[in-house]
Amino acid sequence: MKLQVIKGDITQLQVDAIVNAANTRLMGGGGVDGAIHRAGGPVIMDECRQIREQQGGCPTGEAVITSSGLLAAKKLIHTVGPVWQGGNTGEKELLKACYINSLKLAEANKLKTIAFPNISTGVYGYPKVEAAKLAINTVKNYRSESVSLVIFVCFDEENHRLYQHLLDQ
Ligand code: ADP
Repeated sequence: MKLQVIKGDITQLQVDAIVNAANTRLMGGGGVDGAIHRAGGPVIMDECRQIREQQGGCPTGEAVITSSGLLAAKKLIHTVGPVWQGGNTGEKELLKACYINSLKLAEANKLKTIAFPNISTGVYGYPKVEAAKLAINTVKNYRSESVSLVIFVCFDEENHRLYQHLLDQ
């Protein structure tokens, strides 16, 4: 499994799966979630609504899959990162679970290339250094038969520098 880091807008990537940093109600929102729904069109929200009706949404740390609407990516994986509350409410385990459950879902759907945003480091306030270390370590330690490429898509310069530095080590 190859790991890559790029700076840019995740909605533009031609990969098998784009991961969305969603919320538990799968209602769309700001940040990367808003950008994905805007670029992908209403089909994505329709499918999110169906999932909400079937299972009440998506718990923090878990992941669900939908089609990708107008996006070039084949599928969308929606995972819900933890809101940072100081670090003593299971944030670390939950953020780790986001990466693992997204990768599991990619494997189950035979998706080989997957792009992650910097989950929880926007509005949810997870410290960027800790989130980057955890994201990279979790993905590095994940043994996958089928996923061949994981791209970390950084939107802000701080995350981009951080990821480049950590992946160079
Ligand atoms: P969360 O609620 O999980 O913190 P946010 O969407 O607020 O989610 O932020 C998560 C990360 O996504 C942040 O690092 C933010 O800079 C980044 N981001 C925002 N828009 C985009 C985009 N279009 N492509 C990739 N990353 C984005």
